[in-house]
Amino acid sequence: MFEKCEAIVLRTIDYGETHKIVTLLTREWGKVAVMARGAKKPNSRLSSVTHLFTYGHYLIQKSRGVGSLHQGEIIDALRGIREDIFATAYASYVVELTDKIMEERRPNPYLFELLLQTLKYMNDGLDLEILTYIYEMKMLRVIGLPPSLDGCAVCGRSKGRFSFSIKEGGFLCDQCEEKDPYRFSLSSAAVRLLRLFYHLDLSRLGKISVKKETKNELHHVISAYYDEYSGLSLKTKRFLEQIEQLKSRLQ
Ligand SMILES: [Zn+2]
Repeated sequence: MFEKCEAIVLRTIDYGETHKIVTLLTREWGKVAVMARGAKKPNSRLSSVTHLFTYGHYLIQKSRGVGSLHQGEIIDALRGIREDIFATAYASYVVELTDKIMEERRPNPYLFELLLQTLKYMNDGLDLEILTYIYEMKMLRVIGLPPSLDGCAVCGRSKGRFSFSIKEGGFLCDQCEEKDPYRFSLSSAAVRLLRLFYHLDLSRLGKISVKKETKNELHHVISAYYDEYSGLSLKTKRFLEQIEQLKSRLQ
């Protein structure tokens, strides 16, 4: 029996000469892997609907193992991402992060919406770094690694100046900062943005402009937190780092 779903293509790998195994993030059932027979042939009707990042409706036959893809209809190819190497690098990272974190067949409509919205914003040319930081901050809740951002991780104080402690798992107020000699000192802009990104309703994201120095602070804190707690090692992260170096040389 074929069933219809709404999905985003998270990953594809070649299978034999002509087939592809496609990992979809579906709104209805979470992550599912399907065999797309013949999809590697350029004239196959499954070729364009199985490109990375494609958002569409899919007709699939589910099975205990790898199901099979019967048909697809593109809602948005998100071509703007594929045509831009920087957007491709950031989107690939966000998608791989999602793929690594999601278990198969665990529906998570919140995460589906979050990924879709992030990719659409990337496709529309919004700030790729900021979108990635927002996504990473929001994923911490999904993974179950929420940092203390509303107040000091040690004493709970919510006002004043803060630094960020990886060891204590969140902000440290200036009275507790000696608890961690390796804390990151933060500007008040970075403190505000870390909180905002974590709590923000992404669909309401307006125009956001952040200075390069503030972006660097966000990048260091978020990366260090993931390195310490997530246990993830992502291929796309290295690619993203190389792309970031290229970008800063071009600017
Ligand atoms: Zn404190």
